[in-house]
Amino acid sequence: MEKEKSQAELLKDKLFSDKKNAYLVMDDKEIDEVYDFCEGYKDFLTKAKIEREFVTETIARARKMGFSEFDKNRKYAPGDKFYVLNRGKAVILAVMGSRPLDDGIRLTAAHIDSPRLDLKQHPLYEDREIAFFKTHYYGGIKKYQWSTVPMSLHGVVIRADGSSVEVNIGEDEGDPQFCVCDLLIHLADEQMKRPANKIITGEELNILVGSRPFKDDKASELVKLNILNILNEKYNIIEDDFISAELEAVPAYKAVDIGFDRSLIGGYGQDDKVCAYTQLEAVLETENPAYTCVSVFADKEEIGSMGNTGLESSYLKYFIMRLAEAHGYRGIDVISATQALSADVNAAFDPTFPEPIEYRNGAKLNYGVAVTKYTGARGKSGTSDASAEFMGKVRKLFDEANVQWQTGELGKVDAGGGGTVAMYLANLDIDVIDVGVPVLSMHSPFEVTSKIDTFMAYKAFKCFFAEN
Ligand code: MN
Ligand code: MN
Repeated sequence: MEKEKSQAELLKDKLFSDKKNAYLVMDDKEIDEVYDFCEGYKDFLTKAKIEREFVTETIARARKMGFSEFDKNRKYAPGDKFYVLNRGKAVILAVMGSRPLDDGIRLTAAHIDSPRLDLKQHPLYEDREIAFFKTHYYGGIKKYQWSTVPMSLHGVVIRADGSSVEVNIGEDEGDPQFCVCDLLIHLADEQMKRPANKIITGEELNILVGSRPFKDDKASELVKLNILNILNEKYNIIEDDFISAELEAVPAYKAVDIGFDRSLIGGYGQDDKVCAYTQLEAVLETENPAYTCVSVFADKEEIGSMGNTGLESSYLKYFIMRLAEAHGYRGIDVISATQALSADVNAAFDPTFPEPIEYRNGAKLNYGVAVTKYTGARGKSGTSDASAEFMGKVRKLFDEANVQWQTGELGKVDAGGGGTVAMYLANLDIDVIDVGVPVLSMHSPFEVTSKIDTFMAYKAFKCFFAEN
């Protein structure tokens, strides 16, 4: 027989916070659904490694689900679905709601760019009969993590005549791959004395691309010549075409299950494709919402959201203003009434490196999607600190929809810091809070997330869109 609870125990039940590991709360049927959902995520993550590929895949799926290209002069009916493409590197999906537009939009925003090695504009060179690409890393990386990793090459080249060619090499079975080399430990005495941020320097992130010379003993740089010849035959490009190219080297491996229990996902670029994919699923499944639902898939977050495909730019604002105008509303009224979830990842607590995260307030694996009231650094510098009222609204919404969620502060007060697109949405007079998946080894070539947390992000975005 169960012992009767003491008065203190009963009072604790009533008053104490009782956030639990989501596995202990969910039934097996729902956990099966979680694992199934993540199969689709792993596929997508493997297929869409860079922002352009994410956009292409997103538009293909959206069109299949009845989305058509946004027409700024058209009056849309409730339930209509449309998208706006921004320069092939960012995209907005929208589903028209039945409420008047000036009741505001339900907006989610994730980014689809991830840290990587971009090729410089004059990338190809030969050094002592070995050919390399010079790179310029993109986003915040621990540079030493990016050597000795098999890499693939993705992007686009614009030729002198204006025609373009897409590049994707190193992903398919049988494709050659590339890598940055490191010094053998036997001869690394001096290198190992360098500080960690210089073990591999930016100018040492050179990608090995070949070693076989073109057969001729008269000319020099025969290895480089041979590479250019191969590229010319395959892509019809010449050396100067690299000037008008965006080529990105990323880890070449597929997303996989991690752990004997397959509870985790390992893969490249989960910051922030784990949130982008989950918001994509949520918006694609949204039918006849009350509020107009919009998801933006933004580029350039990893370099501060700068540039015309990043959320510091006005393209989202312009879209909402055009939409408002076509339906007889003032854009600013629609924007000011809009509520948003900034869908970005958070740091997951890692027991091997407990120091920089204050456990009580850090995000934990399997505790569900993390709601982050503020990010920033030091004294909350460089962040949007969501209001108690908006936090309260989101809390109630997620609780009512049975979303497993937790709060997550990005590390200890003075441990470092970071930001998301939340502040740029807040600058538009939008209520916004960060909601996303905790990640281990964030910004490394192989990031790890929890399947349950990933599924809960999807569930969170779905219930946000389903508000009436
Ligand atoms: Mn991010
Ligand atoms: Mn990031």
